[in-house]
Amino acid sequence: MKKILIMDTTLRDGEKIPGAKLNINEQLKIAYQLQKMKVDIIETSFPSLSHNDLEITKAIAQKVGTKTTISVPSRAIRRDIDEVYNCIKNSYDPIIHIVLGSSDLYDGKNKEQIFMQNIDAIKYAKSILPKVQYSFTDASRQDFESLWGKIKLVVEAGANIINIPDTVSVMVPDEYGEMINKINYRLKNLDKDIILSVHCHNDLGLATANSLIAIKNGADKIECTINGIGERAGNTALEEVAMAIKLHKKYYNAYTNIATNEISNTSKLVSYLMGIDIQVNKPITGSNAFAHYSNLRMTEITNSENTYEIIHPEDIGIENSELVLTSRSGESAFKKGLAKIGFDKFSNKEFKNLFKNFLELANKKKEIYSYDLLYLIEKNLEENSEQGNEFLKFKNKLYELIDIEVVSNILFSRATVKIRKKDSVYKGEGVGNGPVDAVYTAIRDVIKINIELREYKIKSVSKGKEALGKVAIQVNYNGKEYTAKAVDTDVVRASAYAFVNAINSVIIGKETSETV
Ligand code: MN
Repeated sequence: MKKILIMDTTLRDGEKIPGAKLNINEQLKIAYQLQKMKVDIIETSFPSLSHNDLEITKAIAQKVGTKTTISVPSRAIRRDIDEVYNCIKNSYDPIIHIVLGSSDLYDGKNKEQIFMQNIDAIKYAKSILPKVQYSFTDASRQDFESLWGKIKLVVEAGANIINIPDTVSVMVPDEYGEMINKINYRLKNLDKDIILSVHCHNDLGLATANSLIAIKNGADKIECTINGIGERAGNTALEEVAMAIKLHKKYYNAYTNIATNEISNTSKLVSYLMGIDIQVNKPITGSNAFAHYSNLRMTEITNSENTYEIIHPEDIGIENSELVLTSRSGESAFKKGLAKIGFDKFSNKEFKNLFKNFLELANKKKEIYSYDLLYLIEKNLEENSEQGNEFLKFKNKLYELIDIEVVSNILFSRATVKIRKKDSVYKGEGVGNGPVDAVYTAIRDVIKINIELREYKIKSVSKGKEALGKVAIQVNYNGKEYTAKAVDTDVVRASAYAFVNAINSVIIGKETSETV
């Protein structure tokens, strides 16, 4: 039976979703969880894109790359390759992934010339690192024989992994399977140790089907993301291919290393940290995937669990009983609750801070569910992030919301706010079309800054009538966009906190750009 390698690219291709940018601590949490779920390879973002991406790649390579293979993408440029080398030189069995940027494809340069630059880059990468992957961006739209000619050159240059993406989702399963079959046959005759990798996009809802048919036709490795996230309609969903291969082991004569009982925790963590909801009917990880509403079916399920469920909730780590915590739950119960959703590694300081925040929340909101615990984790990551440190540095220049009061009737709302800056407290008043509008007018009454609200999103984080409300907003100041979010049991308060946070981000942004 053949082992199929699973490469998770949630942190690179998945993160391309607008508004889903993660900070270094959030990326590390996800990388640790991917390691726990036993993915074979974790792909990071391009270190050469920004200083921030470089720091993130270094951190993941140092902390998670000691035990799990890290694949780091690089443009076909020596300077980028050297940078990747410096990130992963001490990691366990690392991979450098040379990708032709799609901009290179369309910049009018001679295609052959660009390709020969790629060959040089592969040779150079191979001279300093043993494992090199090369991705043929947009392979599915190229003429087959000319693609094969290039594959041969890439293998001769030393690449060990050949990736064949269906970048823009143009293939149906039969076509893609046939193409992979032909490439696999020739590739294994050329060198049987070369790994054939596939990377599919889901514009027609075919990413999982295309990846599976590729396995049937000889592919050795699948590139995928948690919850299938990614640009446009997303990538192949890791949980779907992993469960399909597990359920049809005999048909594919293959298996993966994925610890499927970590799927649910991983899916929730990624969804929460990126702020992207999972469609309720999403296969495997949607909240309705295991819910049975019909009474008729209910009786049958009670009689025989196998009637309608081909997968049991436990297979992906959903437990029947949720641990509900209250303010009387002690440290050990809290620890147990965190472990249940996948978090069991904390420094003492981190845990103390989490427990303090937990007690505060439990006093406001009587029952604490697993989603509330994810909120506490996120809050903790934020407080320890660069942005959290920035906030401390500029503390004396920033505003803090102390109190709000809102009265609404059917025609309008009136709000008063109390806001502190350094040692002074200011009072503002405003009326508006609804409570949030009134509060924002009152905040502007105190803080006279010319910012424009561009987007306002509100959603509930957990369940129950005292559920937390999460407000995410986007504002524009001088042509630059700033985002901010806040969570509270009261959605009007959450809205107010988010607005003040956004104003503080503008102030920090102004300070940092002026001093640099
Ligand atoms: Mn892609």
